[in-house]
Amino acid sequence: MTRVSTARKSVKLDEERASRFRRRLHAWYRRNARDLPWRKTRDAYHVLVSELMLQQTQVSRVVTYYSDFLRRFPTLSDVARARPAAVMEAWSGLGYYARARNLHALAKQVTDDGRQSTPLPSAADDLRSLPGIGAYTAGAVSSFAYERRAALVDTNVARVLRRAFLPGTDPKTSAGQRRVWELAEALLPRTGRATWTHNQALMELGALVCTARVAHCGRCPVRTVCRSSKQQARSLS
Ligand code: SF4
Repeated sequence: MTRVSTARKSVKLDEERASRFRRRLHAWYRRNARDLPWRKTRDAYHVLVSELMLQQTQVSRVVTYYSDFLRRFPTLSDVARARPAAVMEAWSGLGYYARARNLHALAKQVTDDGRQSTPLPSAADDLRSLPGIGAYTAGAVSSFAYERRAALVDTNVARVLRRAFLPGTDPKTSAGQRRVWELAEALLPRTGRATWTHNQALMELGALVCTARVAHCGRCPVRTVCRSSKQQARSLS
């Protein structure tokens, strides 16, 4: 049993169950993952652009914007050298324009106003010190671009983890959110490469199967280890 603790709370994880969860989830992802352009790159800038665009925005809308934006600004230095208005124009229509402003500020900071092409940091803690990068985005860039063992929790991942392992945890409280992050860290596979698949798979399951509106437990790959599975609940009653 792995126990991840903080001063006030802890998450207990049954290793056997966790391992079955990972195996089933990863196998399902390999068969069912959507073909999305940002899943074919390990370029940290490209991953960052996709992650910023995907915040509060549907995947289908982001696909076109992502390609157009990278055609116009192929590198972080190109963003840094551009006028803020030009970056905003390329973002126009996606909404939440603070994301574009933060990307421009980040590009200027990281590349010394576009004079040097410095790679983005790979550690989640270092990424978090940059403008507009929170815990989720830091974990996403670290694991998706650099294949590092970094956890991430967005609304899809939080829902899947709560339903599967922590039913009854209140997502609105900071204690509940902290427990979900602890669980996400405890569930990470051993290698960075497997972490790439793991994080993508958790997000995909939350987007396609264990959705906010309905949990499709009948076709869920982790239903036999999920604490909220309707199938399990029926067979137990
Ligand atoms: S079994 Fe149902 S509740 Fe559990 S993770 Fe799958 S879809 Fe969500």
